[in-house]
Amino acid sequence: MQKRYKGIAWWGWAAAAGLYVAAAVVAVEFAWDRAIDALAEVGTHRLDLYSASLKSELGRFETVPALVARQDSVRALLSASPEGAPRLTQAVNAYLEAVNRDVGSGAVDVINADGSVIAASNWDQPVSFVGTNVSYRPYFQDALAQGRGRFFGIGTNTGVPGLYFANAVHQGDTAGDKVIGVAAVKVSVDALESAWRAPGEAAIVVDGNGVIVISTEPAWKFTAMRAMTAGQQRDIQASRQYAGRVVDALPFRRVGEWNETAWFGTFPDLRRAGRTARYLVMARPAPQGHDTIMVLLDTVGARRQQRVAFAFVTGGFLIAVLYALYALQRRRTIAEKLNAQQALRRANDQLETTVVQRTAALTEANERMQREIAERERTEQRLRATQQEVVHAGKLAVIGQMAAGLTHELNQPLVAIRTLCDNARTFLERDQSAQAISNLERVGRLVDSMAVLTGELKAFARKPEVERVAVSLAEAVAHARLIYESRIRDNAVRLDVRIPPAATVYAESSQLQQVIVNLLGNALDAVRDASTRVVTMEAAGPDPHGRVRFSITDSGPGVAPEVLAHLFEPFVTTKPRGQGLGLGLAITLRIVEGFGARISAANCDDGGARFTIEFMAAEPQRAEHGR
Ligand code: ADP
Repeated sequence: MQKRYKGIAWWGWAAAAGLYVAAAVVAVEFAWDRAIDALAEVGTHRLDLYSASLKSELGRFETVPALVARQDSVRALLSASPEGAPRLTQAVNAYLEAVNRDVGSGAVDVINADGSVIAASNWDQPVSFVGTNVSYRPYFQDALAQGRGRFFGIGTNTGVPGLYFANAVHQGDTAGDKVIGVAAVKVSVDALESAWRAPGEAAIVVDGNGVIVISTEPAWKFTAMRAMTAGQQRDIQASRQYAGRVVDALPFRRVGEWNETAWFGTFPDLRRAGRTARYLVMARPAPQGHDTIMVLLDTVGARRQQRVAFAFVTGGFLIAVLYALYALQRRRTIAEKLNAQQALRRANDQLETTVVQRTAALTEANERMQREIAERERTEQRLRATQQEVVHAGKLAVIGQMAAGLTHELNQPLVAIRTLCDNARTFLERDQSAQAISNLERVGRLVDSMAVLTGELKAFARKPEVERVAVSLAEAVAHARLIYESRIRDNAVRLDVRIPPAATVYAESSQLQQVIVNLLGNALDAVRDASTRVVTMEAAGPDPHGRVRFSITDSGPGVAPEVLAHLFEPFVTTKPRGQGLGLGLAITLRIVEGFGARISAANCDDGGARFTIEFMAAEPQRAEHGR
């Protein structure tokens, strides 16, 4: 059976496409999940790190105001009247300057209960805190009210953002003692920000108001992570926490969740201005206060990994499809080859069958032909037998005819002889010897004529094959003329003989004489009763074919039309009984053919008959042998 391999069915393609889509989706999801997991891990590390650095960096400044608050000179300055303490102020200023230098903070200052800065580490700087009033600042208020204050803000004088720690200064060493002022330290977060800066990432610290106070992205600083109510805005303005700035909202959108500590959000792109990018956002409460540390991790890497996974799956799928097509093509080629082989085998088988059939047909035809040949041969044999029978019957008929003719020819003379003999005896008994002798002479003549008859028969029966030699035609004619000399003379026949003396033909002398005797005899018979009695014998040649043409023409009545067609057949005669057997021309034909010559007869226009013989010419001096 011939197999047909079709292409892949539609459902095959559909299944492959489905598989591809599923694989692509799974791969993309998987790549995303893995990348985000990795990113989340990085985020966790970052949060750990930032949290620790916040704690260590800022923690070491936390105790500074408490220590300053316990300083006796500070207490003394705050307790003294303003006008009576210039020396004390100078001493505290020097002390604060030394502390600030030693701990590496931004500034250290002492504030009296009214909120006025009375001493500061930067007392001799162009932008000095001394004399400024910070009563509106929450860290001051908190320190007065609760003993400690903490606050991110922008310096009103300096305009430099920083973290403020504050501690209440008590009159005595116990907590219940009267609060006479506040000691505060301002710490710069610039170092932290630059230390946290990493490509593709942002790290921020959001204070209790939801305002970004530390940010690796400078533009985001002092923007809000959540919408501000009018009251909150008023409070912020009142505290001049952000140096009177209007706090704008950071343009971001929370677009998805990852887990309880991480979510996705679109933020202004860190790399390209004016664009947004998607970040994994992780948050954790800061070690101090109500702040929150946040890290933003760019998901572009995860996207890239997704694309790689997608490309990988697509490539794999393409390779698989190509391989499938190749395999299919290969299978098809093999199938076609097999089919071709099968077809060839079938054709071969068919050919063999055909050959066998044809051979059988041929064999059959051959056998039929053999049978037909055998049949033909049998038919031929039968025909030949029939022919022989016919010939035999013909011969018998001829013999019958001949016997009848002979019987008749011989009976008459025999009867005559019998009568003549009887009469001769009677004449002898009567002694009439003269009559008896006359009778016996007549018997003799009759016997002679009977001898002529038998002679003719003998000549007919004679074998025609003789030795052929060059024979003179003129001599043969002269011989015949001699034989019929008396008849010619008696009948007053004019004999014209025009034979060239040199004319020689292939013949046998006595047979040639017999032929001419026969023909001349017939001619003399024909002219006997004619008014003019002329017999012409002439010869011409040899012609270019080496033929010598001899003819004998008479002025007789010509050959009777009914006889002409059968002239040369035996026993054809028009002569009365006793004068011809009808064998003359038959014998003549046989002899002439024996010479290799041809004889023909025709009637002349003026009435007579003409017999023509075409002899083969022969050189007179050279005798040759022929058949
Ligand atoms: P036969 O002379 O015994 O009859 P042939 O065979 O010689 O036998 O002749 C056959 C016949 O042919 C003759 O009987 C005659 O009718 C015809 N025949 C032969 N020669 C001549 C001739 N020269 N003219 C007319 N008829 C002829």
